[in-house]
Amino acid sequence: MSNPLLEAHPLPPFSRIEPGHAEPAIRQLIERNKQAVEQLLKANDTYSWENLLAPLEQLDDELAQAFSPISHMNSVTNSEAMREAYNACLPLLSEYGTWTGQHERLCQAYQQIAESEEFGALDDARRKTIENALRDFRLAGVSLPPAQKARYAELRKRLSELGSQFGENVLDATNAWSRRASREELSGLPETALSSAREAARKAGYDDYLINLEFPSYSPVLLYCENRELREEVYTANCTRASDQGPSAGNWDNAAIIEETLTLRLELAGLLGFANYSELSLATKMAESTDQVMGFLEQLADQARPQAQREWEELQAFAGEEYGVTSVEAWDVSFYSEKLRQSRYQVSQEDIRPYLPITRALAGLFRVVHRLYGLEIREVESFDSYHSDARLFEVLREGELIARFYLDLYARADKRGGAWMDDCRVRRWREGSLQIPVAYLVCNFTPPVGEQPALLTHSELTTLFHEFGHGLHHMLTRQTVAAVSGINGVAWDAVELPSQFLENWCWERESLALISGHHETGEALPDPLLEKLLAARNFQSAMMLVRQLELALFDFRLHRDWGTAGVSSVQAVLDEVRDQVAVVFPPEFNRFQNSFSHIFAGGYAAGYYSYKWAEVLSADAFSRFEEEGIFNRATGDDFRRNILETGGSRDPMELFVAFRGRAPDIGPLLRHSGITH
Ligand code: ZN
Repeated sequence: MSNPLLEAHPLPPFSRIEPGHAEPAIRQLIERNKQAVEQLLKANDTYSWENLLAPLEQLDDELAQAFSPISHMNSVTNSEAMREAYNACLPLLSEYGTWTGQHERLCQAYQQIAESEEFGALDDARRKTIENALRDFRLAGVSLPPAQKARYAELRKRLSELGSQFGENVLDATNAWSRRASREELSGLPETALSSAREAARKAGYDDYLINLEFPSYSPVLLYCENRELREEVYTANCTRASDQGPSAGNWDNAAIIEETLTLRLELAGLLGFANYSELSLATKMAESTDQVMGFLEQLADQARPQAQREWEELQAFAGEEYGVTSVEAWDVSFYSEKLRQSRYQVSQEDIRPYLPITRALAGLFRVVHRLYGLEIREVESFDSYHSDARLFEVLREGELIARFYLDLYARADKRGGAWMDDCRVRRWREGSLQIPVAYLVCNFTPPVGEQPALLTHSELTTLFHEFGHGLHHMLTRQTVAAVSGINGVAWDAVELPSQFLENWCWERESLALISGHHETGEALPDPLLEKLLAARNFQSAMMLVRQLELALFDFRLHRDWGTAGVSSVQAVLDEVRDQVAVVFPPEFNRFQNSFSHIFAGGYAAGYYSYKWAEVLSADAFSRFEEEGIFNRATGDDFRRNILETGGSRDPMELFVAFRGRAPDIGPLLRHSGITH
């Protein structure tokens, strides 16, 4: 039986891929790769790029190409069968990762190449690939003595169990709470939120309204519900999930899981020779030391806190004067903030929509990247697709085809929420010819109705630019080794630079003239609307910034100090951080940390700071365009060459300095956020 996942194709043969192809293909390729690794190691005494690493790279790229369409289809055309097929592949891939990561002879072979005369003569990409691999061998515990290696495996396994238990507890606690409400109790909610609540009630067999702790349900209550007691109830239920407080106190409590996780992470870091888990986290990041990260976050906090305090006082004054509220509580903050925002700016996302039809937005996006980087983008009319919404485009520069991307814009039932960029093919040499990069760009916009094109909100437009920015990082790369091609090998805290960077063109008058056009009249976004949009951009930005800094500092300090320097209370660390940076203090019973999945069930442990770190880079990179012209082609070419084309082949700080002419400065981020003194 032929399996399309085992054949070489320039683009995935989607129409022929069945869920049943997935596991057998992945199993077979992994088995083949393992045998090939052993054979290659045996076949030579002296290793080189050509006799070992080039063939390995080819093998792993074939595995990646087989898995990529499975992963993509699982996300965008999900079915029970596809989910099972996908889930069956995950443990195989993870086992293969551990097998290679702890392969001592393979590691020694890399080491031998790194110490050989050949190494100095290799290009940046190949040297960086070898250096990264050696680092990752070390982080996988390859050189530990047997007893410690066994302990390492135990720790990894237990930590992964704790992570999934944490996530399951959050999910169970979220699902456990719901509340019926009358129409009167929900007074103030917009029509869309009301009809969702009515629909939820109907499904549960009630004839009134039902609210729960999923974001689309509780968020409108906190923003719009006039009923203060109900806001308090929802706020309390939400911020005490999986803890010893609130309506489900003691059920699914994550406190012990958090403590065990922190203790085991510290032990793991120790095994690998790091003083704490924050140090271990930084081993693969752009930031160089825990002091540097702390200094960075504290500097931002010092700059933002005075304004955050003023914004908070302003909100309290507004709630007092307009609504007679003497004490603004945690469950009032969003509600009065929304009232203040409306009274000040009178602009809603809905007002902007008619000016941002998707046809115009896409054409505008393509014109922006044409002016910046000289790209020509054209649609491919006929191709093998997985869904009628998916489109395929080609990217050309100076007449040469350099990349392709799939664009899948609209929400539908079998598609995962959110927006993302993923790779389908990476740029590299494949059997003597160049494999050009292919990206998947996925969004979840509201689909078009009838003849009218889909109309975007401004925040959806920003999402489109953001993902396209990631896409350009992947597609414009000039690297030819998979491990550092495109976004591969780019440090976690630098990878959001190109994406956040491109968002800036959604906020400039000159570019909005290209991007916007009323879907009936073609008229560009009128000035008064634009002015309001720009003015509203930084509403309460300092308050939001200090909240993000609170999370980042809590995460980083907790992972640095836990189990050392006498730190053994999660709540105590959080309280100290709040004293240092917060302006709004939550009530005693708040246990937000018990549902902080980013750091306890996701990949952000001692890495939450990355969001702000990358934002500083992107704002500062853009500031050069503000100085030299946002459509200055020379500046665009400089960004393309130094950042987008170079990808992971060189140190991100070197690349930034090469583009900006100096180290990153936090000034532009503060200025763009409207933070002044
Ligand atoms: Zn992103």
